[in-house]
Amino acid sequence: LERALERAQRIDSLGQLAGGVAHDFNNLLTAILGNLEATRADLEKGSPMDVALAEAEHAALRAADLTRQLLTFARRQMLETRAVHVAPRIAESEAMLRRLVGAERTLVLEVQPDLGTVRLGAGQLEQLLVNLVVNARDATAPGGTVTLRARRLEAGDPSAGEPTPTEPSVELVVQDSGVGMDRETLERVFEPFFTTKSVGQGTGLGLAVCHGIVENAGGTIRVVSAPGEGTTFTIRLPAGSERSSPSRGSGAVTGLGSV
Ligand code: ADP
Repeated sequence: LERALERAQRIDSLGQLAGGVAHDFNNLLTAILGNLEATRADLEKGSPMDVALAEAEHAALRAADLTRQLLTFARRQMLETRAVHVAPRIAESEAMLRRLVGAERTLVLEVQPDLGTVRLGAGQLEQLLVNLVVNARDATAPGGTVTLRARRLEAGDPSAGEPTPTEPSVELVVQDSGVGMDRETLERVFEPFFTTKSVGQGTGLGLAVCHGIVENAGGTIRVVSAPGEGTTFTIRLPAGSERSSPSRGSGAVTGLGSV
């Protein structure tokens, strides 16, 4: 427990640091993007200068996305939550997820139609799916498969597998047939800034963000992986009652527990 607490505190202070940096960065990026846009407006479309600036704009947008992730991570405790209908939301994200996985790998979707709702902040379900699916894609060689499964579990559900759920839950599983992870990597995957990817490819924030979102929603995230045997991430989120009014929830404010 002590180790878990220590780790949680480390993750928390890193989060605060990251949030401060992200905030300043965001202001700088706004200035960069604004000037790029103004300059491009005066240029002939497709001219060498326009192409070069478009590339700069693309990089700045990517950086803005990164700082957004950082801010989400740092501010997750304050985010307002709402009831999210899981199956329709996944259906809305399908095209984007397929684009991310690309044509060289197969994305298999197995989503129950009647999943009900979970309580999450705006965009958080998409963030969970994108972060896990992108990691799965990166770990998988061309020709491989990424599978996204979603099912509803009832309390005490004997078909749920370990651990038996104590409350109605929605389970999201992202499984890949990729390279898998060694023990050392596995122990650190949820740490902010931990990455095995090269500079520019990975930020080490994807899974820290996922962990924060799930923790804040009162859910669990687990990972099973072995070198050469692929990886399975399993998220369980408490299911909302179908009749829940669309009232503005004050998502439970919690600290970080063990990973
Ligand atoms: P990033 O993707 O930017 O590196 P993440 O926090 O999303 O940051 O992931 C941290 C690390 O965990 C990755 O660099 C990789 O080593 C490992 N990892 C995550 N998902 C997988 C996966 N599906 N298969 C193998 N390794 C993974």
